[in-house]
Amino acid sequence: MQTITHWIDGKRTPGSEARLGDVTNPATGQVTGQVVFADGADIEAAVASAKAAAKVWANTSVSARTQVVFKFRELLNERKQELAEIITAEHGKVHSDALGELARGQEVVEYACGIPQLIKGGFTEQASTGVDVYSIRQPLGPVAIISPFNFPAMVPMWFFPIAIAAGNTVILKPSEKDPSAANFIAELWKEAGLPDGVFNVVHGDKVSVDRLLEHPDVKSVSFVGSTPIARYVYETGTRYGKRVQALGGAKNHMMVLPDADLDLAADAAINAGFGAAGERCMAVSVLVAVDPIGDELVAKIKERMATLKVGPGCNGDSEMGPLVTGQHRDKVTSYVESGVADGAELAVDGRKHAIAAEDASGAPTTDGFWLGPTLFDHVKPGMSVYNDEIFGPILSVVRVPSYDEGLELINANPYGNGTAIFTNDGGAARRFQHEVEVGMVGINVPIPVPVAYYSFGGWKASLFGDSHAYGADGVQFFTRGKAVTQRWLDPSHGGINLGFPTNN
Ligand code: NAD
Repeated sequence: MQTITHWIDGKRTPGSEARLGDVTNPATGQVTGQVVFADGADIEAAVASAKAAAKVWANTSVSARTQVVFKFRELLNERKQELAEIITAEHGKVHSDALGELARGQEVVEYACGIPQLIKGGFTEQASTGVDVYSIRQPLGPVAIISPFNFPAMVPMWFFPIAIAAGNTVILKPSEKDPSAANFIAELWKEAGLPDGVFNVVHGDKVSVDRLLEHPDVKSVSFVGSTPIARYVYETGTRYGKRVQALGGAKNHMMVLPDADLDLAADAAINAGFGAAGERCMAVSVLVAVDPIGDELVAKIKERMATLKVGPGCNGDSEMGPLVTGQHRDKVTSYVESGVADGAELAVDGRKHAIAAEDASGAPTTDGFWLGPTLFDHVKPGMSVYNDEIFGPILSVVRVPSYDEGLELINANPYGNGTAIFTNDGGAARRFQHEVEVGMVGINVPIPVPVAYYSFGGWKASLFGDSHAYGADGVQFFTRGKAVTQRWLDPSHGGINLGFPTNN
């Protein structure tokens, strides 16, 4: 069985190995490896390495840094099949979906290749007589990235390409549930020519996160995960004087107006509700059906759900894989029971869905962390399936009499990550994008993850801090500004003047 170690100062580093965590293959339920959990000394070593490398890397020319990022992009593209296999083996998502995650992460790497243009400052000649003023943007130093299990490669790639291109050094703490992708990425960076210490990976849990939050040499924290932890990370990190962006959980609503193309909407609900087994922060978990289309929409969705192929992510024909761990599967499954107890109508019971998995002898098996796609109809706010972020393949349909009541429902929800409207009415769509209190909006697009040159981030309990991820916000977050006022010797400016400097 493999041991997954830290990556510190350009090499695999076992660390203290005082604590280890199991890593499982969700499709079989078997333990496939053990990941080391960092203690204080391991974090100290990673931060020391990042601090030493920061001096050298920040002084490396912008063009030399950019060339390393270009090379990393090439290697990532060449090796994506292997990396996708690693993701599928530990997360469970199907191979094509793992490749999709890598493609979206690669977009940010490509954006970071434009860093010379992105960190350019401004210059004003003759701001005052004989005086020029200009601005420069400089890296922060060692920065921490703490990521969730559901996108073991893409979410770290929302941050580190820009951080590194801008001259920072990184300590990545990925999820302990699927840690191997981060180590693979570290090896690609090394092969791309990144100096040792610029990209470090430490594995672990709360202990390592807390040490990073407290460490005086860590200058910023980029966190993605559930809302309670995001709030904690934001509050703790800022208390220690750090710049923090903390992206939290979600409950994404998709509103379907009566004039929408219902086949398109049903396809979109399936894709966004059950892709990656619902373990996406942009998954649609609530379908808001505006009267009178509820019955027809639900019928179309049920028809499609019956044909979904659920099986191991490494099988080419599987469309949906298992959940990440047995514990998470049990938690998600408990919502099937609580939905029924709360009075929602269980339109499709995912517990009964066929699982196309085989054991080593080729016999059918349901070992592994399975739950099929599940649909609740006539869900109401207040029921736990509506209120809670389930993070699994459970889609809830809430029926509303009008657009206004649908909008009110969405805006009353404490989360504000993503939302979508399906309609053929441009005026209604335009009104929705203006009125809805959510950070990312799709119009006939169910998973509106912005391209790399915009920024990703929700509102309300889905984001703590001012900065969204990547795009212009990412460049701003990973650099700090300096304004320089310069005057070169000119005899006309001699003399003593104790007054406050004014411009003339
Ligand atoms: P999580 O909050 O359990 O873990 C996220 C990270 O925090 C992991 O690295 C974990 O080791 C660490 N962590 C866990 N408990 C901690 C604690 N008590 N103190 C300090 N650190 C702790 O989230 P998860 O289950 O890995 O991921 C799923 C969650 O992430 C969902 O809520 C999902 O919506 C959210 N998510 C949000 C976005 C977004 O962009 N808003 C994107 C992806 C995932």
